[in-house]
Amino acid sequence: MEAPATNHEVRIPGLTQTDEDGLYEIRLESLGGLGAHLAGKMLAEAAVLRMGLNGAHFSSYGSEKKGSPIKSFVRLTTADRELRTSAPVERPFVVAIFLDTLLKAPGILSGLRPGGMVIVNTTMSPQEVREALGYEYDTVACLDATSIALEQKSRVNTAMLGAVAAMVPFLDVARVRDVLAATFERKHPSIIESNLSTFDRGATEITVDRRDTAPEGQTVVGTSPALGYLNAPIGGVVANPANTVAKNLSGSRVGYLPVFHQEQCIHCGLCDMVCPDNCLAWDIIKEADGTWYTQLRGIDYHYCKGCQACVETCPTQAMTKEREIPGFAEERRVPLDWSPRVVDGARYREPDTADIKLS
Ligand code: SF4
Ligand code: SF4
Repeated sequence: MEAPATNHEVRIPGLTQTDEDGLYEIRLESLGGLGAHLAGKMLAEAAVLRMGLNGAHFSSYGSEKKGSPIKSFVRLTTADRELRTSAPVERPFVVAIFLDTLLKAPGILSGLRPGGMVIVNTTMSPQEVREALGYEYDTVACLDATSIALEQKSRVNTAMLGAVAAMVPFLDVARVRDVLAATFERKHPSIIESNLSTFDRGATEITVDRRDTAPEGQTVVGTSPALGYLNAPIGGVVANPANTVAKNLSGSRVGYLPVFHQEQCIHCGLCDMVCPDNCLAWDIIKEADGTWYTQLRGIDYHYCKGCQACVETCPTQAMTKEREIPGFAEERRVPLDWSPRVVDGARYREPDTADIKLS
């Protein structure tokens, strides 16, 4: 049977970049809990149902838990083209990174096309993001979506949705906003306004740095793991099976961390009881008469997932939830002492005048 005639002459204002199949592809790089799946869904819904495009969206969840990496894929094309693939987006025009801790993830910009753009939720400048990524071409756009979400009492995804809608030239920001409003009207009418404010701020509070288009072949940055099937030593040994001491869990935090205020701490230990990992560094203070007591010294951010259970539990607000800015955790980390312990896993030291003693 003869194939139906198609008309590939449909033009969408601003849709000047497409791949060899006529597709414009977007990849959202995120962590579980930040709402990238919903953002991708709303983006595709706006394009298909309100802008007359063809489109598809799906997400890849990895281990499907809060804090683990997820990717959300959006494909758009003109209405006269069929869109039959549901493979992951490997050659995007846009990579939107929902949290700057992901800048270190191998292959985060994998396959980004020349002339594409990177949109990042960060407190860093575009220049600092370029340095972190080793990426000197095309467009880098930055916004502090986490702070916007914190201030508006909403979530990062609506700020990022606003930024993507504003940055992609052929998307109609007002139509995407309409879909956002309709989505929250159906599900959570009480938080429509805060999410619309977040969206509006995301669409406007962007710092953009545009450079020359990358030469073909120079857009894939940092994709190779140190060891692969070609260079891994034969008969290699896993030296620490089932040992998570070396594991850095910082990547599970979704933009917030607990901050410890020692002057407000009564050393009750409630935070330690609810912490799902071994994050809290304690001292054992020994008195001259041989008695001893424990004192919280700080947080080992190396193991902190940012779940905020300690903040919610602390009776004296000695733990507060704060926006994580790059370098803070490294600077304020109080490393756990893994040397042989005297009592209950805590370090052991003589008291000094600054120590606070429990009565
Ligand atoms: S729950 Fe609060 S007061 Fe108690 S030890 Fe932890 S930080 Fe200190
Ligand atoms: S946020 Fe608090 S309770 Fe949660 S992992 Fe970090 S230190 Fe532990």
